[in-house]
Amino acid sequence: MKVAFPYMGTTVIYKKLLELLGHEVVEPPEPTQRTIDLGVKYSPEFACFPLKVVLGSYIEALEMGAETLVTSGGHGPCRAGFYGEIHKKILKKMGYDVDIIVFDDYKRDIMGTINKVLRVKNGKPWRTVWRAIKTVYAMAKALDGIEKRIGRIRAYEINKGDCTKAWQAIKEKFDKVQTVEDVERAEKESHQLLDGITLRPVPDSERIRIGIVGEIYVVMEQSINLRIEETLGGMGAEVERSQYISEWIDFHLKPGAAAKEHELKILKKGEKYIQEIIGGHAKQTVGYIVNFAERGFDGIVHLMPFACLPELISQSIIPSISKDYNIPVISLSIDEQTGAANVLTRLEAFMDLVRNVKITKTA
Ligand code: SF4
Repeated sequence: MKVAFPYMGTTVIYKKLLELLGHEVVEPPEPTQRTIDLGVKYSPEFACFPLKVVLGSYIEALEMGAETLVTSGGHGPCRAGFYGEIHKKILKKMGYDVDIIVFDDYKRDIMGTINKVLRVKNGKPWRTVWRAIKTVYAMAKALDGIEKRIGRIRAYEINKGDCTKAWQAIKEKFDKVQTVEDVERAEKESHQLLDGITLRPVPDSERIRIGIVGEIYVVMEQSINLRIEETLGGMGAEVERSQYISEWIDFHLKPGAAAKEHELKILKKGEKYIQEIIGGHAKQTVGYIVNFAERGFDGIVHLMPFACLPELISQSIIPSISKDYNIPVISLSIDEQTGAANVLTRLEAFMDLVRNVKITKTA
């Protein structure tokens, strides 16, 4: 079957999993204004922005011949859990005869998950499935490590754009891997590539570190968050996100308590401000702000889709955390109306504030 997936973040990982299981993969293009326009046109007006962009991405994949869509689900008291059903209904109404396989927390429906695995398994022997999972998990870990390193060094590149070019080349390199050994080789070569980027030396006291927190889709998908990591890097800031795909896999899919330690630690840090899981990643957002502040970061950019209920709640709590930890935080609401010039101006002003607070702290 011709299979596609929603475009989010480092898509080479999802593509590779489906390829290793022998599917004909239709990779949707990176979201553009057309993707957003399509999603906005066919979604309910008050749907969350990620639902609209993902719908646009699905339509583009279906136009390219996809027959089945494989995605992850969501649960908790927000709209994420309805994405699969709503997308299916809208696409059916538009005349697409499409099958959507939604993977969710396996503990909530073990039999249902097994059935879905059997369908995606595509008749391959279990050892092939196991090899594919191991390869893709190693890829996710390696690519996240590399992306974190790029987030740290982009601010200091002498030739602007070197890191972005290297990241593109690295994704292409990983697109060719077939085994865990290939992943290890690609990882080593990728770090060598990054070693070759000329950086200007910066004393520790002048480093500005910004944590990016918020709803998973707008945090991870650079095409709709106005390439926030590149933008902040260009302004001289090191960046690190609250969401990385390998950490999501560890918490939601990987069995065993050890894999969940990191996320549980973050949730615990958020407990003082939000006691309950209120949907989306609101509790992680709050926990990560505390975590970044404790690690000495200088500022936080909080990204939220317009009208995202969980992130509206975390936004209302942020002034208290900002005061408790003396760390500047800016919240940016993202949707189809978001203007790049407006965001850029606000970020420039925010970076001035971050630098001034740092000077005051170290004076
Ligand atoms: S987390 Fe926010 S954007 Fe995501 S589904 Fe829930 S309400 Fe919508």
